[in-house]
Amino acid sequence: MENAMKPESEFKRCDRRFHPEDMAVEAGGVKIGAGHFAMIAGPCSVESEEQIVSVAKAVKAAGAQLLRGGAFKPRTSPYDFAGLKAEGLALLKLARQETGLPVVSELMNINDLPLFADIDVIQIGARNMQNFDLLRELGRADRPILLKRGLANTLRELLMSAEYIMASGNERVILCERGIRTFSDCTRYTLDLSAVPMLHELTQLPVIVDPSHATGIARLVPPMALAAAACGADGLIVEVHNDPDNALCDGAQSLRPEDFAALAEKVRAVREIVTCAP
Ligand code: PEP
Ligand code: MN
Repeated sequence: MENAMKPESEFKRCDRRFHPEDMAVEAGGVKIGAGHFAMIAGPCSVESEEQIVSVAKAVKAAGAQLLRGGAFKPRTSPYDFAGLKAEGLALLKLARQETGLPVVSELMNINDLPLFADIDVIQIGARNMQNFDLLRELGRADRPILLKRGLANTLRELLMSAEYIMASGNERVILCERGIRTFSDCTRYTLDLSAVPMLHELTQLPVIVDPSHATGIARLVPPMALAAAACGADGLIVEVHNDPDNALCDGAQSLRPEDFAALAEKVRAVREIVTCAP
């Protein structure tokens, strides 16, 4: 449908029409976008020193460029594990020290921003995609923002949220498709892969895909990750756990390190095809 999305002039900063060149976002020394593909991997939540350091070493060996790990977890139930908070961020930084991998972690509340002073990439989760006060504040942060699509948000709304951050002064926004809610009841969400080429048409910002939250099922993560690479994603964010059966959060969708390593290898092969000259 031609008019499905008609960007108006409010998309000044992230409108492809005004920024025809793909933008690369630098994240802890790693470039994402404009031909640079990045794999972000790690557990849903930081649980212990042993867990985060062993996963960090494994994903680094497999070729991941960044380490993820939640310390502040948005949980549907108030009785579920909500993250190790400041201690989790400290352990994440320890894993960075051990491996050299820059780190990505989710911020839920602007009051916690000082704790993120040394975190390389600030993730804004699906549930906070339209927390406009938070987005405005992040516009003043000197860090790249990984902005996940809300589970019931349109691409236009995602771009408007990116615009909030950029309009407040921070241009380093990475968009993330992580699945949306549909009537499909066999997967956790529905991975909207058409969002990748569509967003590339609409904006110069890099677009990555999260096949873990999108499917909720570890065995579906590799095929959807490969599909994401095939449709031109600029990167992937994948949950990896050393002991998925006993993970405190999202074990069912977490890959074992060896499965991530096998996937990473295939992703590189798909990227070769995608980037070969026409
Ligand atoms: C996460 O990355 O752990 C997470 C909670 O993701 P989302 O906000 O996409 O649900
Ligand atoms: Mn998770």
